Amino acid sequence: MKEKIKMTNPIVELNGDEMTRIIWKMIKEMLIEPFVELKAEYYDLGLKNRDITDDQVTIDAANAIKKYKVGVKCATITPNAQRMEEYKLKKMWKSPNGTIRAILDGTVFRTPIIVKGIRPLVGNWVKPITIARHAYGDIYKDVEYRVEKSAKAELVITYENGEVVRQTVHDFKGPGVLMGMHNLDASIESFARACFNYALNQKHDLWFATKDTISKTYDHTFKDIFNHIYENEYKDKFNEAGIEYFYTLIDDAVARVIRSEGGMIWACKNYDGDVMSDMVATAFGSLAMMTSVLVSPDGNYEYEAAHGTVTRHYYKYLKGEETSTNPIATIFAWTGALRKRGELDENKSLIKFAEKLEVASLKPIENGIMTKDLAMISNLPNKKAVNTKEFLNEIKNNLEKII
Ligand code: NAP
Ligand code: MG
Repeated sequence: MKEKIKMTNPIVELNGDEMTRIIWKMIKEMLIEPFVELKAEYYDLGLKNRDITDDQVTIDAANAIKKYKVGVKCATITPNAQRMEEYKLKKMWKSPNGTIRAILDGTVFRTPIIVKGIRPLVGNWVKPITIARHAYGDIYKDVEYRVEKSAKAELVITYENGEVVRQTVHDFKGPGVLMGMHNLDASIESFARACFNYALNQKHDLWFATKDTISKTYDHTFKDIFNHIYENEYKDKFNEAGIEYFYTLIDDAVARVIRSEGGMIWACKNYDGDVMSDMVATAFGSLAMMTSVLVSPDGNYEYEAAHGTVTRHYYKYLKGEETSTNPIATIFAWTGALRKRGELDENKSLIKFAEKLEVASLKPIENGIMTKDLAMISNLPNKKAVNTKEFLNEIKNNLEKII
């Protein structure tokens, strides 16, 4: 047995819930710990522990990512009324991802993993499409109100010097709903820079789209800030790299993305990115083949899978039934974090290991051995669906061969 790879600084490990928690343990035990002397600062974000700690564990984990710069996160339950009952919760805790993003700020980049034998539903997509999602504000930090009877709803801004600005939102004649949301120039600026830097890094074109024709102040501010920063800081660099930046309306972007061959980064506001990344992931094959990384303006990285805790599979697992859950996106969260740790610490063996683990993970699929979600859409002639454990074993065998 070769000596294990050593790490200088730790990565922050955020454990999570349900089926992904089960897979998390398997990935660590089968694919990482036998090869790497893993240094990790561990936080248990499982719903039970979030409840016990009054969600302090989520805040501590986010601050640890600020300290160590690299985190890897397992999918977590965002509680709703049914989960309150199921887990006998003290409170309907907020989405951990929302809490972490609010602390780290930044942009989420989601990229599909392309593999031989899985063809995108959109036939002309031959290159991956990365969704860059602004991770601060808008409806994720909104204030909502239900109006029950006739009322005048106003937007009131009180400046520190006492100056007051009012605008009527609506004169309600009967019941209805109302929402106030915000964003910050500073956050939009860091969103823009994160996108421009990422595009230069990947040498991919950058598209940005909002609805500025309708939202003439809110969305227009996004458009203006992007244009300003592009013209002043990035235009020459983009020309040099031979890549393009352009702005267009979101409905136009949707149509053009579908007709494209892929290969671009598509920057979206928070909600647009939430929705569009699910569409892009599904059209590329499977939610389980979508990676996700949160990049903060001060250079912190949090890697995760784009999918949730795969509840239906977990309930089957609890009943002792066989499951065929795809671990690829969760493995790529780990490889993303280990590679970034390697880059920051100039640890070449760690970077190489991450690359090898990615190759070893995709090899079985290319050879026709895959989980059920992929077997359903693969066009390989002699494909075979296996269960979660068998699939991970295939990866382990491949990894041992490569290493
Ligand atoms: P989900 O866990 O992503 O699962 C939706 C469906 O997609 C699954 O039922 C499964 O389809 C398929 N799927 C997703 N990942 C898969 C994988 N790795 N392998 C095979 N199939 C996979 O989303 P959800 O059911 O809406 O949410 C479940 C829980 O996850 C919720 O409590 C939610 O709050 C949480 N969530 C967390 C995050 C996060 O932490 N980032 C993100 C989204 C949701 P079939 O059942 O048809 O096989
Ligand atoms: Mg979503």
